[in-house]
Amino acid sequence: MTAAMQPRLPLRDGSSIPQLGLGVYRVEPAATADVVGAALSCGYRLIDTAQGYGNEAGVGEAIAASGLPRSQLFTTTKLTSRAHGRDNALRAFDGSMQRLGVDYVDLFLIHWPLPDLDLYVETWRAFVELQQDGRVRSIGVSNFTEGFLQRLIDETGVVPVLNQIELHPWFPQRQLREFHDAQGIVTEAWGPLGQGSDLLQDPRLVDVAQRVGCTPAQVVLRWHLDQGNVVIPKSVRPDRMRENLAALDVQLDDADRAAVSALDRGVRLGPDPEHFAVT
Ligand code: NAD
Repeated sequence: MTAAMQPRLPLRDGSSIPQLGLGVYRVEPAATADVVGAALSCGYRLIDTAQGYGNEAGVGEAIAASGLPRSQLFTTTKLTSRAHGRDNALRAFDGSMQRLGVDYVDLFLIHWPLPDLDLYVETWRAFVELQQDGRVRSIGVSNFTEGFLQRLIDETGVVPVLNQIELHPWFPQRQLREFHDAQGIVTEAWGPLGQGSDLLQDPRLVDVAQRVGCTPAQVVLRWHLDQGNVVIPKSVRPDRMRENLAALDVQLDDADRAAVSALDRGVRLGPDPEHFAVT
């Protein structure tokens, strides 16, 4: 599928986001320009980084080297947990702009709510300022539970366009997705393939893949796409980048989707946002 034909999901502020992109968590800073350059060559147009990943500069280098029109690229970055609070957030954002080498960021997310600091509402107001300045096209959050989202909405009246959360067949987040749908918030899945765990070796998933004629990773990604999730699988290998992108061409039927949904264990691989704190 050509990059221009890839599906995009509308955001509630009038923008839109490619439905499949590349995540660069734990991509070595020195390797990032090459990895992102390879992804852009394969046809990826959404790159998901974060201040905390330490590799924004490599993402920026690859964007500059790609020669692609800025309007065709979608850049997401996230506020480091060390910079909650209005002034810290605005200063940290300036750093991201410099490292990415862009004159606007497509999507800026609060990485974690950090309830122990209790600064996420003030931080969100700074995000609203950044959007009003035009330096960020869209603003959203990550790892927010329904309670944290509801408080942001109640106290500021500004609904995040998107919430990036841990979501995969073992932890499908049905209740939070329903809340998102009711509020017009797009769900973006992190760890969509189960973060290199043995999820992809599950015989029930392998069965579906054999029946459909694709790989287990493609089954899982198509399951996400069919639910309306944005997915950002990470790989540093161009063969896997292409395989993951080709999930856009896979078709599952209801029975296939039900087989993947039956893998639900209700258990997170990552931290619980209610308790995650800066150390
Ligand atoms: P993931 O589920 O994308 O898993 C990545 C791992 O899966 C790779 O390292 C590789 O081992 C394996 N893999 C990738 N493609 C494969 C394929 N086709 N076949 C077999 N194995 C394959 O996990 P992730 O990197 O943690 O999550 C994706 C992205 O989400 C991150 O890179 C990051 O951008 C974002 N993220 C955000 C948060 C957050 O708190 N907001 C947390 C974690 C990750």
